[in-house]
Amino acid sequence: MTSPDLTSPDLQAHDLTSRVQATLAATPTQLFIDGRWREADSGSHFTVENPATGDVLATVASAGSVDAAAAMDAAATAQEAWGRTSSRSRAEILRRGFDLVQERAEDLALLMTLEMGKPLAQSRGEVGYGGEFLRWFSEEAVRDYGRYADTPEGNLRMLVTRKPVGPCLLITPWNFPLAMATRKVAPAIAAGCTMILKPAGLTPLTALYFTQLMTEAGLPAGVLNVLPTDSPAEISEPLLADSRLRKISFTGSTAVGKHLMRQATENVLRTSMELGGNGPLLVFEDADLDKAVAGAMAAKMRNMGEACTAANRLLVHESVAEEFIARLAEKMSALKVGPGLEETSDVGPLIDAKACASVEGLVVEAVERGAKVVVGGHRIEGPGHFYAPTLLRDVPAEARVMREEIFGPVAPVMTFSTEDEAVELANATEYGLASYVFTENISRGLRIGDRIDFGLLGLNVGVISNAAAPFGGVKQSGLGREGGAEGISEYTSTQYIGVESPWGPA
Ligand code: NAD
Repeated sequence: MTSPDLTSPDLQAHDLTSRVQATLAATPTQLFIDGRWREADSGSHFTVENPATGDVLATVASAGSVDAAAAMDAAATAQEAWGRTSSRSRAEILRRGFDLVQERAEDLALLMTLEMGKPLAQSRGEVGYGGEFLRWFSEEAVRDYGRYADTPEGNLRMLVTRKPVGPCLLITPWNFPLAMATRKVAPAIAAGCTMILKPAGLTPLTALYFTQLMTEAGLPAGVLNVLPTDSPAEISEPLLADSRLRKISFTGSTAVGKHLMRQATENVLRTSMELGGNGPLLVFEDADLDKAVAGAMAAKMRNMGEACTAANRLLVHESVAEEFIARLAEKMSALKVGPGLEETSDVGPLIDAKACASVEGLVVEAVERGAKVVVGGHRIEGPGHFYAPTLLRDVPAEARVMREEIFGPVAPVMTFSTEDEAVELANATEYGLASYVFTENISRGLRIGDRIDFGLLGLNVGVISNAAAPFGGVKQSGLGREGGAEGISEYTSTQYIGVESPWGPA
């Protein structure tokens, strides 16, 4: 069934309420193990709240160590047969998954807005982006080539093949509830791996709904097992200690990522880490300021600033700083803050009270150090966890807001006077995920690319994520790449078979 178009003007408020109720009623709230929905062995549950209202949306089964063992059994048992399926059959399941995500796009968008808070238009954008990983990896699945070649000496034939790594643990954050799951699940399916997905406790509903879709798409039992929980260590510790697990792919904070990496050393697991960021956005004196302001708005305000790719520090050449700040202030002041379910909202709530307090603390500390508030600078009365879009200027480099991941709608501006200084400031962080440069001098833009220690660079553009592009960071922003041709190789291991030469010994 195709979802109704929530944007249609004749949709009344009561229609939205009944749509919300119907979508929540259609969303599974149990664990998914070996092709079956079931309660946690302990009978435990946790609640999922709407960050715009504080209302409880759902009560979800909370997995523990017994459930982790059951999921591991299922994934390990299914691995051999699944790994032998043809790449075409896996591609077709992914393609059907893509079609189902398109069909149920409005349900998925609604769920995301309900549990995560982002405005509906942005949730729809994430459904588009998240769904693309299914389509992209359905296309990549059949092109995961090996090679067949002679050694230079001619004494051997080399058969190089790529095999599925084996059962994987996939852990995802709350800020992009669908895309962070599909970015891992799709390449794992394409490569022929089985998996255990642990969605974030704050936003498990989108992942559970997506799991249902993949089952409808024909994914066999045991391939995708899903363990929502509010005690993540209770499942990750035994899983990482289990010698049948072959890989962990984690997206989340650097602190938790490092902790999991330490545990992953015991079994020498293949490890992919998509961690935190502290993205610089550089505006040079030769930038087109219309592009720079639009790029800064997108890179900073998308997802309320709760993105690993968010522009965390706006570094602007001193000669254009006044004009850039004035134009950005005008755009930021015009943003409408409100519940994501209201189509007119540009900025939704932050994920929880802790997130709001953290953003507030960063702004207060920056102001104490001499930063000036140009726009916002305060919380917005509840219910819900709203923080006003905030523009700060004259922010010293030592302020915490410049050094830590903000994860909120706060844009701190600092000026520079030379290219060398700009590069030095940009690189002065332990993170290395996304960066942005605005200059009409393309040679300069490419030169900055060479000099900047970041895995991603937007040149005159504020959003660069794409399923076909390799996404990932350097330094403490992580290891490995998701998406692109690189994404599937994270889930394969290379095997070399040396075959006697058909021409006999050299
Ligand atoms: P988080 O590290 O708190 O949680 C991420 C996931 O890890 C969640 O599923 C959580 O339940 C789980 N987790 C927490 N403690 C755990 C433990 N001890 N053992 C096992 N699992 C555990 O991060 P978050 O607050 O959900 O997400 C925000 C962070 O994610 C930010 O730092 C952001 O930059 C980062 N992020 C990175 C990318 C990327 O691609 N690099 C994308 C999105 C978010």
